[in-house]
Amino acid sequence: MNKEFLEEIKSELIAKKNEVMTRLEAIDKSKKRKEPLNADWSEQAVEMENFEVVDALDDMESIELEKIEGALKLIEAGNYGVCSNCSESIGEKRLKAIPTANLCIQCSQ
Ligand SMILES: [Zn+2]
Repeated sequence: MNKEFLEEIKSELIAKKNEVMTRLEAIDKSKKRKEPLNADWSEQAVEMENFEVVDALDDMESIELEKIEGALKLIEAGNYGVCSNCSESIGEKRLKAIPTANLCIQCSQ
């Protein structure tokens, strides 16, 4: 895989990582801001829903962060762009679309 392409992907991944971390911080803050539940039941229900949404977002962003870090590690190790299932090259086109892809197009289907 050519160096320029890898550098491009790497800076893209780092930018994404920063974005995800900013969102995770915001999620963390909103979790800590938990105020005592309102006495009114309907408002409680809305609050519960919001916490669930925040939790779901938290999980999603954490998974995304893991994927990004995994991809960055592979770049450092020189193993980036190799399918983790069949060891074939994932291909630049696919990696450009999904920089965190660890499966080639065949294996992902
Ligand atoms: Zn594959």
